[in-house]
Amino acid sequence: MTGQMDMDTLQLPERGQDPRSLTKEELAEICQAYGEKSYRAGQIAQWLHKKLVSGYDEMKNLPAALRSRLAADYPMQSVAKEQVLVSAIDGTRKYLFALADGNVIESVMMRYSFGISVCISTQAGCRMGCRFCASTLGGLARNLTPAEMLQQVYEIQKDVGERVSHVVLMGSGEPFDNFDAVMRFLDLITGEDGLHISARDITLSTCGLVPQMRQFSDRKMQVTMAVSLHAPNDAVRRMTMPVANRYSMEEILDACRYYIRQTGRRVTFEYSLMGGINDSDRDARELAHRIAGMQAHVNLIPVNPVSERDFKSTGRDRAEGFLHTLEQCGVNATIRREMGRDINGACGQLRKSFLDRRERSGRIPAEDGAQ
Ligand code: SAH
Repeated sequence: MTGQMDMDTLQLPERGQDPRSLTKEELAEICQAYGEKSYRAGQIAQWLHKKLVSGYDEMKNLPAALRSRLAADYPMQSVAKEQVLVSAIDGTRKYLFALADGNVIESVMMRYSFGISVCISTQAGCRMGCRFCASTLGGLARNLTPAEMLQQVYEIQKDVGERVSHVVLMGSGEPFDNFDAVMRFLDLITGEDGLHISARDITLSTCGLVPQMRQFSDRKMQVTMAVSLHAPNDAVRRMTMPVANRYSMEEILDACRYYIRQTGRRVTFEYSLMGGINDSDRDARELAHRIAGMQAHVNLIPVNPVSERDFKSTGRDRAEGFLHTLEQCGVNATIRREMGRDINGACGQLRKSFLDRRERSGRIPAEDGAQ
């Protein structure tokens, strides 16, 4: 049997993938197919996920032949810092990263008393169409790979020179619309061969894709699930979230109860307050009634106005009034602390302004729809 046939029968990971998207077991299969000792996989994983190198050249303890073979079959694709905005108020950093194919994405670093939290994107753009959100204005460009999600965290950790302790999947994109890659990302970042971030220190936010919420619950991971509710009922929800036409709030709440049962964790509801749309005391009472008895926490977020959209933010007093009404009804809730107010473009706005600039200056935009 030739070496080539060996590789075919082993069903190696598809070539062209960034090695950071692969598990240590998959790296071991590749090493084996190359006729290398399997301990090489551990060395490679360590360079990739502990030492956070950006090229095979840096993997000093690997034979040169192995390095060049890996570089040909599984090239490392960079996620490069294009722009960084730093808040003078609290040190929050907003990053614009360029992907190897010219797409751009954004991520945010926030410093808390409990550690450093990084908010990452899971897709370039988004196709969910929420009307208050800038990420969805240009539609979905493409899904991100696990390696591209990891690298947002790795690049930020290298940039600030401190350990990232928390990760939130709340940047551009709908994580459950890129389910398999996001699950692989979670396995890689929580794994012992990776940054080994505790699942409890990771939050995934979804607009409410019910089948995937259930599928995710079945994995029984201790990752917090946050659900973007933004409304007390389907009629109000449909005004701002097209996905509400696909799944009813009752189906979403049922899926949340399933998550709570499967994981033993409470669920977080995100509720962006939009002036005159969903921020009255009546809305608060209706919301409280709908989620009564659930192990849940409500995160209130005064909507961040996007210039292309005409939603008005709820003032501080009204937000506190809403919070008070929820609390009176026995609901556990807080108003989200605002970070980086001075660099506070809403989700997706940094990317949007970069793409607009690039279009004006005539640089060729990345091809849409490439997977
Ligand atoms: N697709 C996922 C995660 C993306 S955004 C989701 O829908 O949950 C993370 C959160 O920010 C979501 O709750 C989203 O609805 C909210 N969001 C988006 N744009 C916003 C804006 N302009 N102001 C306030 N919250 C916003």
